[in-house]
Amino acid sequence: FQRSALPVVVHPFLRLASTMAPKLKDPSLFKQNVCYVNGEWVKARSGKTFEAHDPATGNLIGTCPEFDAKDTEDAIAAAEEAFEAFRKTTGRERSKLLRKWYDLVVENADDLATLITWENGKPTADAKGEVTYAANFFEWFSEEAPRIYGDTIPSSIPGNRVWTIKEPVGVCGLITPWNFPAAMITRKIGPALAVGCTVVCKTPGETPFTPLALAELAHRAGIPRGVVNIVTASANTAEVGEVLTTNPTVRKVSFTGSTNVGKLLMRQCSGTLKKLSLELGGNAPFIVFDDADVDLAVAGAVASKFRSSGQTCVCANRIFVQRGIYDEFAAKFAAAVSKFRVGNGFDENVTHGPLIHARAVDKVEAHVRDAEQKGATVVLGGHKLPELGPHFFQPTVLTGMKTDMAMASEETFGPVAGLFPFDTEEEAVRIANATPVGLAGYFFSRDLERVHRVAEHLEVGMVGVNTGLISDPAAPFGGVKESGFGREGSLYGIGEYQVTKMVTYGGM
Ligand code: NAD
Repeated sequence: FQRSALPVVVHPFLRLASTMAPKLKDPSLFKQNVCYVNGEWVKARSGKTFEAHDPATGNLIGTCPEFDAKDTEDAIAAAEEAFEAFRKTTGRERSKLLRKWYDLVVENADDLATLITWENGKPTADAKGEVTYAANFFEWFSEEAPRIYGDTIPSSIPGNRVWTIKEPVGVCGLITPWNFPAAMITRKIGPALAVGCTVVCKTPGETPFTPLALAELAHRAGIPRGVVNIVTASANTAEVGEVLTTNPTVRKVSFTGSTNVGKLLMRQCSGTLKKLSLELGGNAPFIVFDDADVDLAVAGAVASKFRSSGQTCVCANRIFVQRGIYDEFAAKFAAAVSKFRVGNGFDENVTHGPLIHARAVDKVEAHVRDAEQKGATVVLGGHKLPELGPHFFQPTVLTGMKTDMAMASEETFGPVAGLFPFDTEEEAVRIANATPVGLAGYFFSRDLERVHRVAEHLEVGMVGVNTGLISDPAAPFGGVKESGFGREGSLYGIGEYQVTKMVTYGGM
């Protein structure tokens, strides 16, 4: 296996390492208008660009190429050509490449975190946490790459021998959201490269620069030309996604984002019957039983509900509290939330940043007003914070929630916690499951029998028991129902990028 002889083409802005951080304040460095295809920094053929803005201030960060159908086809062709050689590399070779990329992400963690805070808004400490989480997917899958085994199977036909070979599925189209600009990408690219696939990754329109910085590090890690292609397009364009889901060369699509877009992409994939993973929206129930450790449950609910200002797909969306501890829980929870410091993620001591854009703020406000009109009490917050910037909303706690309120059935995706009272375990599980989606679910209880019972009855892909944080590269991540299908992370994540080929030898 030859490492391709790449010209040293370094995106001028994306020259990371210690020299970069001071330059981040200079917006002119973010107007190179290139993305990464076939080992080179390229512009859109049309010359068109789109803007990315800082959600905390609304200010322009920079511009990126607006890729169209033809540009995307070029990237797919590069990935197809690279696949021929890359699929033949050994697991050990691919492992070393991923490990090198991991090392570079860790070495450049501070600069990557700066980019994440700037374009996504999350506070620096959270951004650093995301970089670690993102890097861990490369590390975990680098360790798996040399351990990809098939099976030998005893045949039911006398004299026959059966075995299976695990092969890379081929060129993969990856589409990711803005809420984890680094981790949603590494969670897909890690397993794809581990098994020998090549990828074309469409970055979110809101957060293109963190993925481009990852591309720069891939280049430095010596990932061969065409194996990783990172293309940019604005949030509102469907063109790149349409090509990725209809071009017959692409054999697998992995999408993380909203349920509506996931359904659209699934329809588009049907024409060429691609292997498909959909990691879609959730509406996570968070149940606190009377027998729970209330302080632990409060800490878990705060972590689960308000991480990234409520903008994660596994954030608690409906908090159900049993009536015996409802008042105690509500008081302690509101007290904990009142200590948050909302502001620009770069400011020291800020614990919670802005929402991503005005649409998100409007949705959060609409959910609060709807709950209020239907009888909920606003215990804390409840309003926009225009004095901080265009996209800030007060961390909000509502009590007296009922199931006819919008927050019961829709993902709020913001810093608003509604507390629903309930009486019995059977009632809590029934209401928790009364939604068409099922990504994460949480509950707090010290009753071992109940722990088993409720974990088995929740209609979700992931359950947190006595914890509000469940993400782990070693654990399978994914949903059921309209939260999608497929798993990321863990050994299950590897299988999403493979085909199992069966070989039968007869008459032996
Ligand atoms: P979104 O579906 O609008 O966008 C996600 C990605 O899809 C972006 O890159 C976007 O540009 C792209 N996209 C949008 N329309 C497209 C189209 N027609 N063709 C191709 N690509 C298109 O979602 P969002 O608002 O950016 O992200 C928030 C949603 O993502 C929430 O619902 C959240 O629950 C979900 N999410 C799920 C997971 C998970 O693992 N299940 C993780 C994070 C976020």
